[in-house]
Amino acid sequence: MSSKTIAELALFGGAPAFDEKLHVGRPNVGERERLMGRIEDMLDRVWLSNNGPMVQEFERKLADMLGVKHVVAMCNATIALEIVTRALGMEGEVIVPSFTFVATAHSLQWQGVTPVFCDIDPATHLLDPLCVEKMITPRTTGIIGVHLWGRPCAIEVLTEMAARNNLKLVFDAAHAFACSHNGTMIGSFGDAEVFSFHATKFFNTFEGGAIATNNDELASKIRLMKNFGFAGYDNVIYVGTNGKMTEVCAAMGLTGLESLDSFIEVNRANYRSYQEGLDGIPGLKLVTYDDSEKGNYQYIVLEVDEREAGISRDLLVDLLQAENVMARRYFYPGCHQMEPYRSYFPHARLLLPETERLVRRVMSLPNGTSVGREQIDTICGLIRFAVSQGKEIAARCPAENKG
Ligand SMILES: *Cc1c(COP(=O)(O)O)cnc(C)c1O
Repeated sequence: MSSKTIAELALFGGAPAFDEKLHVGRPNVGERERLMGRIEDMLDRVWLSNNGPMVQEFERKLADMLGVKHVVAMCNATIALEIVTRALGMEGEVIVPSFTFVATAHSLQWQGVTPVFCDIDPATHLLDPLCVEKMITPRTTGIIGVHLWGRPCAIEVLTEMAARNNLKLVFDAAHAFACSHNGTMIGSFGDAEVFSFHATKFFNTFEGGAIATNNDELASKIRLMKNFGFAGYDNVIYVGTNGKMTEVCAAMGLTGLESLDSFIEVNRANYRSYQEGLDGIPGLKLVTYDDSEKGNYQYIVLEVDEREAGISRDLLVDLLQAENVMARRYFYPGCHQMEPYRSYFPHARLLLPETERLVRRVMSLPNGTSVGREQIDTICGLIRFAVSQGKEIAARCPAENKG
């Protein structure tokens, strides 16, 4: 790779470094035969949904693994967040970070609850509790923290703050499956925690998610709500929706759980390769993980300081994408810059200086079982070259690429 010249970059018409696109969220699939066996069993039973045996087994296994009393398997994390919000009676305003996937905010807005966007701590990319405290009003009923990149929020501070202000506390743990905080698995904090098992997450059930809680009453409410409010045949006691996980999804989940350690091992090894490959490149900072905790090492997140690196984040992303390295600007431009929020709160950015700064600096790189040492060395070689030649590359670009 080191042999590419500027003119040979795919950005300028050269052959891409990779024949096939390398994606950030290429799904991990467990042992195909085990999966097929489970699907055969399911077809033999002709039990396809509605709390089937595989969903029940999946929920038990998750509860064991996470050390939490209740796990409710769900069709996806977005509906799970909506149901938790409703089951906890959150209304009015709920404080959330803007620097997250838009589903965190949409799950509130969809139900007529106002997401109030709060700034992050630039050191962690997570909700800044001092900002949260300032956003609390008489209309505030809850806080949804996001364990972004699998790194836990300021859980203790937020828990104390929620209790002191009589607020519900939920964590969007879509990124944090199989991660721990002070040795305790993510899943038992706050009133509830919500996981996503979407295909692009490192562990998937095609589409899916789960709600974890130690609260018995909340768990039974959630079980009713995700099944139209049915408490028994013909007996609806609650307004509900359809948030159920299907058997085929649970089959994928049970199979994926058997390979979970190896998915994580691959991610961790890849993370180390990136760490070595990017070491010492000026202006680049790789998001770090606490090795004394359990982590899934899914997210390879780079912060690009344009001044120091001599190349903008956007140009670096364009350059890599041309080489078929499908780097992404997660989470650009921040929820507050997306509709309907941008129109509702046109001045939100004034309260979100750190978010505004960060969304211009971050990028995610491919990880998972579809990349390995060799690809990562090439990717890092490209990045090193791009940074070393930043000025010349920018000079050759049409104006809109200069970022
Ligand atoms: C993926 C994701 C979601 C949504 O998950 P789905 O299962 O796709 O609905 C919510 N929040 C965050 C932070 C996510 O990354």
